[in-house]
Amino acid sequence: MTIGSMFGDVFRSLFKKPVTERYPFQRPRIPERLRAKVVWNPENCSGCQLCVKDCPANALELIVVDKASKRFVMRYHADRCIYCAQCIESCRFKCLGFSTEEWELASANKTPFEVLYGRNEDIQFLLERAAQACSEQPDECREVK
Ligand code: SF4
Ligand code: SF4
Repeated sequence: MTIGSMFGDVFRSLFKKPVTERYPFQRPRIPERLRAKVVWNPENCSGCQLCVKDCPANALELIVVDKASKRFVMRYHADRCIYCAQCIESCRFKCLGFSTEEWELASANKTPFEVLYGRNEDIQFLLERAAQACSEQPDECREVK
């Protein structure tokens, strides 16, 4: 390549649109079937625990609030998840899926990687129960049981 042809390329590129994406200033459109954060909808959950048993990474926990009225909270450990989609395959009631919005999962600390899914009142109930256990038995205050 001669210097002259290089200048020609440089000159032409001044009038072309950049091919690089302006991420993170503009979020790109993600592929429809991207495997991102697992999300859970409690509405149809039967509490069968199949998703929990089938997860090879031990990334899901189903916490029972009230079995009779099918009130559950799902704890998802995004830092353990290998995005294999086994839980989504296993759930007969289509409660699980991959998020189309939450796919930027990098973080400098572990806090965003432990997610509680469920109805607000059920999550609140569990947090209050954990806080109470924490005040009564400080040794057990690390987890929502
Ligand atoms: S995608 Fe795979 S690793 Fe992640 S929670 Fe589901 S079964 Fe577990
Ligand atoms: S497999 Fe589906 S119905 Fe069964 S516990 Fe998991 S989310 Fe609920």
